[in-house]
Amino acid sequence: MTTVDGAGSPLRAADDDAPEWDALVDDLAFLADHDPQACLVRAQRPLELARAQGPADAEMRISLHVGFAHLHLGHDSDALAAAERTAHLAQRASDLVWQSRALVCRGLVHHALGHVEDAVDLLRRAVELRREADDAAGTAELLNHLGTVYTGMSQFGPEAAAVLSESRRLWLAEGDTDQAAVAQVNLARAFVVTGRRIAEQNPRGALAAARRALTFAEQAVEEADAAGLTRFAIDARLAVVGAHILAGDLAAAGVTLEAARAMVERFPTRNGQLAIHREAARWLVLTGRHDEAVAEVEAGLALCETLDRPGERVELLRSLVAAHEGRDDAPAALGALHELHELTVRLADAVAERRSALLSSRLEVERAQRTAEAERRRAAALEERNARLAWEASHDALTGLANRRVLDAVLLRLTSTRARFAVALLDIDHFKTVNDTWSHQTGDQVLVRLAAELRGTLRGDDLAARYGGEEFAVVLTDVEMATAVLVCERMRRAVADIDWGELMPGHRLTISLGVVTSDLHGTPEALLAAADVALYAAKADGRNAVRVATALSAAEGVAAAD
Ligand code: GH3
Ligand code: MG
Ligand code: MG
Repeated sequence: MTTVDGAGSPLRAADDDAPEWDALVDDLAFLADHDPQACLVRAQRPLELARAQGPADAEMRISLHVGFAHLHLGHDSDALAAAERTAHLAQRASDLVWQSRALVCRGLVHHALGHVEDAVDLLRRAVELRREADDAAGTAELLNHLGTVYTGMSQFGPEAAAVLSESRRLWLAEGDTDQAAVAQVNLARAFVVTGRRIAEQNPRGALAAARRALTFAEQAVEEADAAGLTRFAIDARLAVVGAHILAGDLAAAGVTLEAARAMVERFPTRNGQLAIHREAARWLVLTGRHDEAVAEVEAGLALCETLDRPGERVELLRSLVAAHEGRDDAPAALGALHELHELTVRLADAVAERRSALLSSRLEVERAQRTAEAERRRAAALEERNARLAWEASHDALTGLANRRVLDAVLLRLTSTRARFAVALLDIDHFKTVNDTWSHQTGDQVLVRLAAELRGTLRGDDLAARYGGEEFAVVLTDVEMATAVLVCERMRRAVADIDWGELMPGHRLTISLGVVTSDLHGTPEALLAAADVALYAAKADGRNAVRVATALSAAEGVAAAD
């Protein structure tokens, strides 16, 4: 057994050393049952380590014990989350045994929450997985577990008997007589519980159940004694007591009760003592020894305080009510009844509280998810809006070309870095005619089409911008005048060659261009003014032409229209 107090634990290895996972998992399994809070503390760092760099199954195994620790601490939603993590990892690894373990953990959480049907369903599935994994011992252990859950649900007596019988059969086949004896004790107890349940409506049936319970319980005593299983031998004797009481043989019940009490005195455990007080009180009431019954109940209740077992008090208080009634002490009986009532309400409340804590933590998660989703949508909308505003601030809404602001910025950058470039201004010839002949809307569509044509004739590095109205500007980077003129000519011809089809049937649209290069060394405004002068020269020369600016103050045409 590995130590559990931290010193010399598997995680004392240096930080960059991998922990000894097997020893660690054993430690956590022990702690989960005996000191769940310590289990959580101990598991924290290894869990992170396992996620980051551990062997594939380390996180799966650690998570399960974390789940059990949470279960014992009543942290139901954390327990479920950890078990679900184990289930997920086990499923990915096709590991049936650990999938089954994860189901057991989930089943026990639901059991604690009073979701008995869910609990049974999960435990059954866990059993099936163990069967599928051909793990007979694991299957037998789980059947035993399922059987005790069924026994606690008093209406499931036959189911309890069926699964406990199968558990016993499997243990016998495995040759594990100790575990077979344990199953026999649980089986005897299940018969007693069933018998008690039917006793109220069906005394004859109860008698048959009592006889069967007695047979099983006596066999259980024999086997538990033979195996030296003291705890189970005491439980078996108490099952015998229950069976005798059911059969109405109070004298025999008393004899066995004393035998059980003697065993508990020799091997005292608080659980054992509590069970003796409970059964003795019941027996004393039935035999009419009410004062002694009251004393047994009081001793039992005192033990419950130290054990923090409010559930155990229910049985004791029932006996107390009956004992006070037997003593004809109506006020005391009423007081005990009142206490019993308070307790059952409190127990129901505690279950309801666990349920609502689970529900509210689920709602919390959902709410957090919804908030995050809304936040994400808001951020996306904001980003989209900002992008749209940025686009609108830099583009012409009609044609989608860059606007004047972008043109100015580009020209400023180019002139201030003394880059080589050309800028051409171009203006549609007789555009008024388009508006007048076809409509302003047609004019707009012509502008859109023309913008697309310009973009299509330019290289990626060049810029086409709407300069204003039906005028455009084109910036050609890293070109000398000869090339700039060639590009302008290409644009001029491309526009002249557009077939306007339905838009302006039979019409031929032309443009005039004025172009200037950075060789003139002017400011952006001076260069644009020079290009404008060249543009007007093109217009004056009859339009559908390219003219070149040769000086900042004046311009003269060099290229004639074709
Ligand atoms: P020119 O050959 O001398 O350039 O003749 P023009 O008719 O093109 O010249 P003018 O400058 O007289 O007319 C330009 C016309 O362009 C006037 C204006 O209504 C029109 N226009 C300016 N902006 C737009 C626009 O956004 N849409 C439309 N449909 N028409 C526009
Ligand atoms: Mg104009
Ligand atoms: Mg014009």
